[in-house]
Amino acid sequence: MSRLEGWKWCPRCKGCLCETVPEGDEKERLVCSECGLVIYDNPAPCACAVVLRDGKVMLTRRAVEPSAGLWDLPGGYIEVGETPEQTLEREILEETGLRVRTVRLLGFFIDTYGDGGTDTLNISYEAEVTGGTEKPGSDVEAIGWFEPASLPPDDELAFRNTREALAAWLAERSGKTGSAAGSASRDSGTESDQGESG
Ligand SMILES: [Zn+2]
Repeated sequence: MSRLEGWKWCPRCKGCLCETVPEGDEKERLVCSECGLVIYDNPAPCACAVVLRDGKVMLTRRAVEPSAGLWDLPGGYIEVGETPEQTLEREILEETGLRVRTVRLLGFFIDTYGDGGTDTLNISYEAEVTGGTEKPGSDVEAIGWFEPASLPPDDELAFRNTREALAAWLAERSGKTGSAAGSASRDSGTESDQGESG
């Protein structure tokens, strides 16, 4: 269900909204019969992060609906004029009291914020704690730190994008662990060749 379900009146002039294909467009939109305003149902951009400290992943247990009581990646909606990195720093400070720095982009994940909620485009990062004092914000019931091998099961995670971003992070991490093991075995292989030739 779209967030525009049931919209009848133009938010600009109170005219009647009709579902129609505007000239030059290919999809049906809500169009005001009075002032011609076209309302596009674009997703709202959000930024969230897999935040690490001492190798553990921080998750926040939501105090509010949707998905109250479930574990979430900290983050939130991007405000006008903000970069996703600035959103992360602001939201995570509000939600957890911690200062973070983004390390790298994990990917983009589309989702819906609860049943009939806003469609979202989630920009997900890996980030690390750089300072601050841990204290849950008003929207957060608890802050949890999890070993990567002991993350909560999927049905205790708040949203589809939470599961997808964590899965992407875990997959990349196991790839890295694999290559680290590979280079370690290569190192041990060259050990016998080592000499004081320099
Ligand atoms: Zn109008």
